[in-house]
Amino acid sequence: MTPINANEIVDKMTNQKINYDRVLQKMISVWQQQNTRPKILVHSCCAPCSTYTLEFLTQYADVTIFFSNSNIHPASEYQRRMLVQKKFIDDFNEATGQQVDLIVDEYKPNAFVQMVQENQLTEEKEGGKRCTACFNMRLDLAAKEALQRGYDYFGSALTISPKKNSQLINQIGMDIQKIYDTNYLPSDFKKNSGYQRSIEMCKEYDVYRQCYCGCVFAAKQQGCDLKTVNKEAKEYILQQNTSANKIEV
Ligand code: SF4
Ligand code: SF4
Repeated sequence: MTPINANEIVDKMTNQKINYDRVLQKMISVWQQQNTRPKILVHSCCAPCSTYTLEFLTQYADVTIFFSNSNIHPASEYQRRMLVQKKFIDDFNEATGQQVDLIVDEYKPNAFVQMVQENQLTEEKEGGKRCTACFNMRLDLAAKEALQRGYDYFGSALTISPKKNSQLINQIGMDIQKIYDTNYLPSDFKKNSGYQRSIEMCKEYDVYRQCYCGCVFAAKQQGCDLKTVNKEAKEYILQQNTSANKIEV
């Protein structure tokens, strides 16, 4: 199977605002004509955005979730979101018979903070230039991982969130695929009632929904009580800390 370069579809679209859901639908119809199931590495920063994304994509492809989120602060909250992501994938596989895998990247919070400080992005509002850099950092890591491990595509589950600029996320993905010899999977998972379905699935699977995006800068701007976040995260980790799954808190 030769993976599809989404730029070839996008270049034919004359509208200024690209309908990335349509691009994805076109790619899926080619997979179906070719009777193929590509291997896709999908970046996700916690379980909620991965719910419907997995329900939808696993109909057509073999999917691995890539948890690469050095932006998350504090470390206990990072561990909590990673555990919740893992548990959701396990529960999803059990309920559906799918075999979704999880790859957890190294947690390097200092590298994220340094990147934000060096680029003078600490005071940026949520949705501004810091978020662009943050999406870029994580999608770049996803592309490298996809290339190294021989996935056909890398993509992002974040396009399901109405709070995230999916045009921007897709543009970043399309730009990154020009740098590396790998293919970006465009998406707009919130379309076709995808966001609504993600809320339902969070209830069905009892998935934890966090109250802030992840970084210390946005949490402080929102007046988020990080002491409580840290306390609750540690409690959750202790609950989950079986002998098979020991985690430092
Ligand atoms: S966008 Fe928000 S809800 Fe979605 S995966 Fe990231 S942190 Fe979670
Ligand atoms: S608000 Fe979210 S997307 Fe923006 S920089 Fe912080 S963690 Fe990244």
